[in-house]
Amino acid sequence: MTGFRASVLTIYPEMFPGPLGISLAGRALQSGTWSLEATQIRDFATDKHRTVDDTPAGGGPGMVMRPDVLARAIDAVSPADDTRPRLLMTPRGRPLTQPRVRELAGGPGVVILCGRFEGVDHRIVERRGLAEVSIGDYVLSGGEVAALVVLDAVVRLLPGVMGNHTSGDTESHEAGLLEHPQYTRPALFEGEEIPPVLTSGDHAKVALWRKTEALKVTRERRPDLWEAYSRRGPGERDPG
Ligand code: SAM
Repeated sequence: MTGFRASVLTIYPEMFPGPLGISLAGRALQSGTWSLEATQIRDFATDKHRTVDDTPAGGGPGMVMRPDVLARAIDAVSPADDTRPRLLMTPRGRPLTQPRVRELAGGPGVVILCGRFEGVDHRIVERRGLAEVSIGDYVLSGGEVAALVVLDAVVRLLPGVMGNHTSGDTESHEAGLLEHPQYTRPALFEGEEIPPVLTSGDHAKVALWRKTEALKVTRERRPDLWEAYSRRGPGERDPG
């Protein structure tokens, strides 16, 4: 099998491919542009109840996923010579960004460990070289939805998946800015017109309007992005 290889470790393998089995990602999955294998972590437990968790060291509520069970599961899908990055989904991780998504899409694939309960025994992180990744500053009930988010973002960038549909460098987060607002027909909607510049046919004016709007919305909504963008040199600000 060639193409981008995704392996997901989870106690809910039935959640995959889920939404990634339809639309562009689903077609790309069927045509072999990428492959997805969801592995049941419980298959690597040793007791008859297929236990994957235990009480937290030091006390406290909830349960923690055991490192020995996780290690066996990881080793089964990703042997030592596997060159694919291994991710652990966790709200403690570095936030996922579009440059990271692009980097993953340019590689051979990804191995994703989905946490449940209070998370995983921390020793597995270094022992198996896991990069801790968060999809945002909120807490989900499990890593599966986060893994679907990562894979959705990556798969749409694989060659041939989007065709001409990608909006390239102007898309939000591609050039460090949010995208300009979009409009389509009808020309008049509930008394509101499309901004006239967009129907003027003047491509230079349209480009300028879009850039101005992108700068405005980024400055208003995302001071963090705006600051990073403002710090860049002029040559770095306008790729393509
Ligand atoms: N006790 C953990 C903490 O405070 O950091 C939260 C555990 S959460 C209830 C269970 C699992 O959901 C985590 O192990 C992780 O795999 C996943 N998860 C929750 N929020 C996430 C996020 N923002 N990004 C990525 N994964 C997340």
